[in-house]
Amino acid sequence: MSSDAYRVVVQKYGGSSVADPEKLKAVARRIIETKEKGYRVAVVVSAMGDTTNRLLGLAKEVVKTPTARELDMLLSVGERISMTLLSMALNEMGHPAKSFTGSQSGIITDTTHSNARIIEVRPQRIREALDAGLIAIVAGFQGVSLEREVTTLGRGGSDTSAVALAAALDAEFLEICSDVDGVLSADPRIVDDAEKIEQLAYEEMQEMAEAGAKVLNSAAVAYAKKAGIAIHSVSTFGGGTGTAVGDFTDDSRTGLVRGVVYERDIVFVASKERFPMDEITAALDYLDGEHVAYKQFDLGIQTGDGYDFTFILPLENLHGYEKIRDELSRRYPDKITFFEGRGTVSLIGEGIINDGANLKRAVKTLGDAGIDIHDIHTSRFRISVVIERDHLNEALGLLHDAFLAQG
Ligand code: ADP
Ligand code: ASP
Ligand code: MG
Repeated sequence: MSSDAYRVVVQKYGGSSVADPEKLKAVARRIIETKEKGYRVAVVVSAMGDTTNRLLGLAKEVVKTPTARELDMLLSVGERISMTLLSMALNEMGHPAKSFTGSQSGIITDTTHSNARIIEVRPQRIREALDAGLIAIVAGFQGVSLEREVTTLGRGGSDTSAVALAAALDAEFLEICSDVDGVLSADPRIVDDAEKIEQLAYEEMQEMAEAGAKVLNSAAVAYAKKAGIAIHSVSTFGGGTGTAVGDFTDDSRTGLVRGVVYERDIVFVASKERFPMDEITAALDYLDGEHVAYKQFDLGIQTGDGYDFTFILPLENLHGYEKIRDELSRRYPDKITFFEGRGTVSLIGEGIINDGANLKRAVKTLGDAGIDIHDIHTSRFRISVVIERDHLNEALGLLHDAFLAQG
């Protein structure tokens, strides 16, 4: 716990909150309000608007598969632009501020470019700035590896920067500020009557994030759980009370669906014929060697003549997918299919498959609408279905109506 003499708040502002100079100035005013309440404020900032996508697009216009190191050098620039502009705005408003890159902030990561994990934070310079009465502005989404290379933390990774900094500074409060009033029962851009969720347990939020809810990054939630830090997901400009994510368990909610989440940006991979186990392990070794994060790996056990498998490749942080696909197709000609037009919809809630009722209802809801389910995965917190991407929005609405509509 921080002493009264040293009360630190960490605030993170996402890309939409700093999308243009007017918004940046409004964010500066929100930071000043917090400082005037007597806090020392460390701010983590994302790249402005869709800057990261534009930088990625630029790289892909130049080359088919960007080199991982150079791509991270490029992508880290987005957050460096917003940190300097925000610091300039605060200084001009009479509140001295200083900006720091991830490296200058002491955010040390492993060496996995595009999806690095934070292994340590050495926030000396941030502490010195706060001690000197400055507002510290930190570029999110980036760190420096033990090999002294610039790394990025995966899409949405500024959330992780904020959690790690809050832990390292022993912050009293952590706010992740975005364009929504916290975590809702579904993405409000798709489901009009999505409802705000007041409190979520770490595990529930982590499952929601892993299943595609952009509002908080899953690695950030995992880090917060480990560090015992509560996350307050709030709206930057909209008021409202937001959502608290923390150590909240409530047995009365067991078995209830809390949210419906979708992921568009995936490829569903399936074997066309049975594989011997040594070929499957060789394929997995190849994916590991390329630092490819796959998920929901499923093996159909066959006696005698091999195994069927399916798995999902999340594309968000996989900037060389075509290379991976082409290499696997070359090694196993005509034996693997890459379904590039599919997505997943997931129902989230602790104890969701304690009995079969939720699963049956989900299958019936989609079946009645004529939506084919290609695969189903379940866990204690999740029921995920793989369907055609064209049906994602409709499926999300139908499942939200079936499980979460009020009244
Ligand atoms: P930021 O740039 O502030 O980090 P993100 O775009 O990463 O913001 O995340 C906020 C967006 O997440 C919202 O605009 C919303 O469309 C989307 N979203 C998806 N699922 C949910 C959900 N369950 N609750 C709230 N927002 C969600
Ligand atoms: N700018 C990065 C992204 O677009 C990181 C972030 O916004 O958190 O993914
Ligand atoms: Mg985000």
